[in-house]
Formats: sequence, C-alpha cells, structure tokens
Amino acid sequence: MKPASRFHRPPPDADARRAVAPVICYPTDTLPRPDLGLYRAARAEAGKTGEILIPPREARCFEVPAGHFLRISAPRGPQVGDLNLWNAADLDERFYSGKTRALHGSHVGTGDRLWSSFPALRPMATITTDTLDWYGIDEFGGAVHDVIGTRCDPYTGNLLSGGHYHHCCHSNLTRALADHLGVAPARAERHVHDVLNVFMCTGFTRDEGRYFMKASPVRPGDYLELFAEIGLLGALSACPGGDCSARHSSDDATCFPLLVEIFAPAPGALAGWTAPPLNGYDRSHGR
Ligand SMILES: [Zn+2]
Repeated sequence: MKPASRFHRPPPDADARRAVAPVICYPTDTLPRPDLGLYRAARAEAGKTGEILIPPREARCFEVPAGHFLRISAPRGPQVGDLNLWNAADLDERFYSGKTRALHGSHVGTGDRLWSSFPALRPMATITTDTLDWYGIDEFGGAVHDVIGTRCDPYTGNLLSGGHYHHCCHSNLTRALADHLGVAPARAERHVHDVLNVFMCTGFTRDEGRYFMKASPVRPGDYLELFAEIGLLGALSACPGGDCSARHSSDDATCFPLLVEIFAPAPGALAGWTAPPLNGYDRSHGR
C-alpha cells in the first residue's frame, strides 16, 4: 500500500476499483443511545467525593462507583494521559480500545462509550463532556482523545533504540496497579492494556498512513468527563511525552501533573438508569 513497497503494475481497472465508495464497518444506529440529558442533570447536582493528583511520569489508580462521574484535567499545563479501565469486581473485563475504535472511530468524544473486552462487550463508561470538542479534525488529519496509540512502553523503546526506560505509560500503569493490588509488577502487568489517550492529538499521515502525534491543544481549565456505567477501577498515567509535541519514552519532554476527580450523583438523580448488562451472545460458538 505504501509508495516504497509497490512492486506490481496497476491492473487496467485500477481506478475503478479504487473509486468504489466505502461503507461504515459497524453502523451504530442500533446501539442504545446514552441519555446525556439524564447524565448532565445528575452531574449538575453531583458532589465531589475525591481527587488525586497524578505526578508527571507516574500513574495512580482510583475507583469510580457505578453511576458516578470521573473528570480528568491538566490543571498546570498541557499534558497527555494514558487511561486504563477495569471492571472493579473483575479485572478480566477491561477497556477494549480496538472495538471502541471500530464502533466510534479513531478518536472519541461526547456521547461515545468506552467498551469492555469479550465476552462482556458492554459500555464501561460514557463520555459526557469534552471541552476540546471544538477541535474537530485538523488539516493534518489530527484529532484529540485517540483509541489508536496503544501506550508508550519500554519494549518498543528497547526495540527502536535500546535502553531501559522505566517511566513509559505501560510501566507507570503497571507500578500503579501493582501498588493498588499489593502484587508484584509482573502480576499486575498482564492486566495493563491498550489505552484511551486522553488529550493526545494524533492521526495518520496522508502519504504513508503512519501514526503521528502533535502538541496537545489541552490547556488548564479543559477537562474530559465520563459517566461510570459499571463500577470501575481506573489507572491514569501522566505520559513522559508531556504534551506529546516532540518525544516520549524519555525524560526529555516538559511534563505536568494530571488531576482525577470523582463526583457522586444526588440520591434519586439517576432514576430510570440501570448498569448495562453483559453482552447477549450465547457463547456456544456454533457447537
Ligand atoms: Zn505515554
């Protein structure tokens, strides 16, 4: 597909084949719509129950009960965050960035859900507010809050340039979860998964389809807010890339802390809402 790897002549009908119109892989018209009006009304009356400031190049865990709200902000300067989510009662059910991408697109925004892994495949959280929703898709094809970038990790860093950098988001999330669970990092590591890149501005280059990043547009005062559809254990890493304008996987970038705040709805504010059930597929797989 890339210019440098083309070894075959186009067939006579190449233009016609390319001209076929695309179709959306997973139309979402049949998905139940989140009741954003209900969520926003509940949020307006919600009270703050806790907060945690995540130091640069570190991660921290936090719990968000079902029906509560989670706000992520960068109060001191532009900073990207790598978010993992688990079902607080069962760590095998965790955020599935690939299916979230297939359903909602490469970047997520208000009204999109964060879906969990098989076999549960249900909304874990719903994005209720994104102050960066004005950004849209820029001239380079970049947008904010991607579900394409996996997470920065020491293995890829070692592969590309050798060395043993220990403050990539993967390691930060591993240490945070290990501390939370009281287990060794090696046991926590298997639960760490592909992330939601909060505030990160990314896309694919037009010429070669390569993953790119650029300086995040997030500023103090901006935030992303989510409604917990099920009881969540979360972990958020303040990426060593800072605003991801130049480098990651090193201590070179200027980094800032991230703030996580939890809000509880007032009693009765979520009347009519119920946590989403597990996926309905019977799991017989044809046998
Ligand atoms: Zn990172």
